[in-house]
Amino acid sequence: MSTWQSQLSDGFRSASELLAFLQLPAAGMSAAAQADFATRVPRHFAALMTPGDLDDPLLRQVLPIGDETLQVPGFSDDPLAEQQNAAPGVLHKYGSRALLILRGGCAVNCRYCFRRAFPYAELSWSARTQRDALGYLRADAGINEVILSGGDPLMASDEAIADLVGELAGIDHITRVRVHSRLPVVMPDRLTPQLHQALTGTRLKPVLMLHANHPREISRALHERLQPFVRDLPVFNQAVLLRGVNDDATTLAALSEALFNSRIQPYYLFLLDRVRGAAHFEVPEAEAKVVYRDLQSRLPGFLVPRLAREIPDKPNKTLVL
Ligand SMILES: *Cc1c(COP(=O)(O)O)cnc(C)c1O
Ligand code: SF4
Repeated sequence: MSTWQSQLSDGFRSASELLAFLQLPAAGMSAAAQADFATRVPRHFAALMTPGDLDDPLLRQVLPIGDETLQVPGFSDDPLAEQQNAAPGVLHKYGSRALLILRGGCAVNCRYCFRRAFPYAELSWSARTQRDALGYLRADAGINEVILSGGDPLMASDEAIADLVGELAGIDHITRVRVHSRLPVVMPDRLTPQLHQALTGTRLKPVLMLHANHPREISRALHERLQPFVRDLPVFNQAVLLRGVNDDATTLAALSEALFNSRIQPYYLFLLDRVRGAAHFEVPEAEAKVVYRDLQSRLPGFLVPRLAREIPDKPNKTLVL
């Protein structure tokens, strides 16, 4: 079996290759959009798409198209005002939780990601960044949870994660470590026994937050690889409400059911961050509320994610209903 590292280098890196794999004409993509934000799609994720369907909801999330080059008022390069950090690689917007940008890159480039216009890729997490970040965390006893994020934090090696979690466990006021990652969804083999050990091997209570937007993303392989994790730690999902991907109650209800079947708890359903190039994914708030009420009528309360958005300068995510 191939390692996740070899799968990373083996993924699709151009839209025309991906379209050929799906038996679709190359005319479906935009070279200008691809030049603005590179194409990156692991083979596992591509294999979940339906060949011959240009409107496939998984393909739509990763295919560079001409709509991205439109200038739309209100859509900017830094919609979350995140370009000023507490310390290099540290975002501390919510009092008790500090977020570390452990790796700038991702295994998949989602076209709606706020990272597309953000210089995260230039960030490198060196020994010095880690020492300074730990110093920042040590100095603020109000922080009890550290979120490993990015980019995608699981781009880091299991050894690097084990080392960092071990250091965090040495800071008394920290009680939880949370990992925000889409990597297991697009490449389930990232869920290694060593990662499980790194997350569960200290006194810290681990939490895993996945990012899946469509029921078909909850694959058999993800289900199987997750089992040791769901046995030992809470696993949640956050999704983004996306036009043409999951903007109807039937799809969202199926997503919640699929998550439940793999013992993943739905957590947030986010409205889109208004990043330049992603306007065609937006579901307006009024419509989102209609879809959400419909979703609520179809599910037990514990499978309804919280509809929320991020507003810069607020002390928490803002609930929409
Ligand atoms: C979203 C976010 C968090 C986590 O918020 P929760 O509501 O606890 O899930 C923490 N820090 C930053 C900077 C965030 O953007
Ligand atoms: S940060 Fe998340 S949403 Fe953005 S490109 Fe990476 S995996 Fe996709």
